[in-house]
Amino acid sequence: MSAIDEVMAAQREAMVREVEESAREHIGRRPLSPRALAALRAVPRHLFVPPQHLGNAYRNRPLPIGYRQTISQPLIVALMTDLLGLGPDDRVLEIGTGSGYQTAVLARLAEAVYTIEICAPLAERAARTFVELGLSNVHTRVGDGYLGWPEAAPFDAILVAAAPPEIPRSLLEQLKPGGRLVIPVGSGSQQLIVVEMRSDQSTVLREIIPVCFVPMTRQNDRPDES
Ligand code: SAH
Repeated sequence: MSAIDEVMAAQREAMVREVEESAREHIGRRPLSPRALAALRAVPRHLFVPPQHLGNAYRNRPLPIGYRQTISQPLIVALMTDLLGLGPDDRVLEIGTGSGYQTAVLARLAEAVYTIEICAPLAERAARTFVELGLSNVHTRVGDGYLGWPEAAPFDAILVAAAPPEIPRSLLEQLKPGGRLVIPVGSGSQQLIVVEMRSDQSTVLREIIPVCFVPMTRQNDRPDES
C-alpha cells in the first residue's frame, strides 16, 4: 500500500466509525448492518470527489461534484444502503448516479447495479471510475430516471438519490414483489421513504427521516449544465 493509500484507509476507517455512531445518536435507530458498514469500508470515497476536495473526502458530509450536484453524505449512503437490505443475488436500480460513490457501495453488496444519470458529463466520469475500480457488475446509462430501466426490470431493490415531488409510478412498476424502494420524496421539505412491494402488489410505506436531496428533474426541465 502506498503512503497515500494508508492515510486514506485510516481516514476511511475513522469515517465509518463516525457514521456508525451518528446513525445511533442522531437517527436513533437500530445499528447499521455490518454488511452496509463493510461496503462503506471497502469503497475509496476519495476517488469519487473532485481533486480540490480530496482533503475532505472522508468527512461525514456531502461535497460539490460540479454541475450543481453533490456526492451524498456518507451517513445517508450508509442508511439508504442499509434500508435496501440487499442480498448477494439482488439486482438493483439506482436513479442519480452522481459521482458514483453510492453505486460502488451497492455494487459491493448486490449481483448487479443498473444506474441512471441525467447529467451526461457526471455519468461519463462515474463510468470511468467504475472501470478504474474494476466494478464489472455496474451498468450505466445517461437518461431520465423517471423512466426507470424497463429492459432490465423487475428489480429486487431501487434507490433514488434525487427527490421527486411524489413517488414515480413507473419505478414502482419495475419493483419485484417483495422488493424495496428507498426514495427521498417532497418538493419543499423531503422525507426519506421506504416502500415495500408486497406479493399481492400492495405497498407499505415507512417514513424514515427528513432529508435534503437535489430535486429529481425531468429531461425537459434541465437548465444549462455548467
Ligand atoms: N448518490 C450520489 C449523489 C447523487 S446527487 C453520490 O453519492 O454521488 C443526485 C443526482 O441525481 C445528480 O447527479 C442529478 O444530476 C441526478 N438526477 C436528477 N434528476 C434525475 C433524473 N430524472 N434521472 C436521473 N438522474 C437524475
